[in-house]
Amino acid sequence: MKIYKNFSLKKYNSFGVEVKTLWFIECKSICDIDAILKDERFKNIPVFILGNGNNILFTKDFNGLIIKIKIKEKKIFKENKKYVWLEVGAGEDWMKSLKYIIDNNWGGAENLAHIPSSLGGAVVQNMSAYGHNFRDIVDVVETIEIKSFCKKKFSNKECKFRYHGSIFNKEEKNKYIITKVILKLNKKPKLSLNYSSRHSNKDALLKELKTVSGKPYTIKDIYRAVTNIRKRKLPNFNTQGTVGSVFLNPIISQKQLNDLKKKIPDLQIYPANDTLYVSKNKESELIEKSNQVKVAGAWLLDEIGWAGKKIGHCYTPSNQAYFLCTDKKASGQEILKVIKKMQRDFKKVYGFELEHEVVIM
Ligand SMILES: Cc1cc2nc3c(=O)[nH]c(=O)nc-3n(C[C@H](O)[C@H](O)[C@H](O)COP(=O)(O)OP(=O)(O)OC[C@H]3O[C@@H](n4cnc5c(N)ncnc54)[C@H](O)[C@@H]3O)c2cc1C
Repeated sequence: MKIYKNFSLKKYNSFGVEVKTLWFIECKSICDIDAILKDERFKNIPVFILGNGNNILFTKDFNGLIIKIKIKEKKIFKENKKYVWLEVGAGEDWMKSLKYIIDNNWGGAENLAHIPSSLGGAVVQNMSAYGHNFRDIVDVVETIEIKSFCKKKFSNKECKFRYHGSIFNKEEKNKYIITKVILKLNKKPKLSLNYSSRHSNKDALLKELKTVSGKPYTIKDIYRAVTNIRKRKLPNFNTQGTVGSVFLNPIISQKQLNDLKKKIPDLQIYPANDTLYVSKNKESELIEKSNQVKVAGAWLLDEIGWAGKKIGHCYTPSNQAYFLCTDKKASGQEILKVIKKMQRDFKKVYGFELEHEVVIM
């Protein structure tokens, strides 16, 4: 295990921001983590756990220890006629792991195609897309508590998953290192085909599915269709600085929704605590049942002219202001300034906050 001092993080965050960390260590095993946590040099300094750095904005040098999790393994833990439980190291790459899952024809994860992530990061953020949340396939999460060095397992329920959140970025933020995840995958899944965005009908899943295959659709068809849509829609994360959506979708009251709908009658809404897709005819039922709903924030930001802007090394693509991008030369402070400006403009027009999803360090 190599220990680096005054180490550049440029290659370790998807915005490509140039900052340094006092200490940097890649841990390939639980033994590595145990040794590092017990090392006297790192006892009284801040510790931060890094996955693949796809959801982090570094705004300054980090005066502590960054542990990059590189635990890699994939094996079948158990299986029966209906399910397979796959044990995966927290440092495994999600896109490679999903390819393996799809090649084996195991279902439940196919809508989460083409999202850059480690397995650990996917749990922490409860990564979601196309009507699926990562929590739908998590059975058990294995961790080490940073303070006590003790191993602890969390059941799906104990992870307290919610919209882009879990116990690991909320109640117990930065207290546990995720080492392994046991995924429960379905051998005979019910496929989710209906995801659509009223904002941009060309992103409808069913429409894309028709171009990749005929009925009955399979796990592989959904995986291909979602990948196609996302490749078209998202910035190219191999060449541009991006964290995908910078902001969370705002959760608002019924009164706020009524006011908004007067201006934008077709605005997409979702259940407050989920990323489930809600069809147009289910909307009224949802609104009646809950005090709060989630609204498509990207749409609202586009409405106030934030799509297709360029400020210094930062820009927003013409199809979506939420995907703030850079040419990988922007500093963290420069990106933060643009994020704050977007939030101020949003609040001025709509009267409620636009919260950032990206982890700001
Ligand atoms: C082009 C692009 C598109 C995206 N699209 C989506 C999308 O559709 N849906 C979506 O939900 N997200 C999306 N994202 C955001 C990002 O991919 C996810 O949030 C992803 O799950 C982050 O994983 P990571 O490994 O990169 O985590 P990091 O960015 O490294 O870390 C995120 C957080 O998790 C913590 N963490 C990471 N690993 C561990 C661990 N092993 N133990 C404890 N804590 C840990 C970190 O401390 C940090 O707080 C996108 C990003 C990009 C660049």
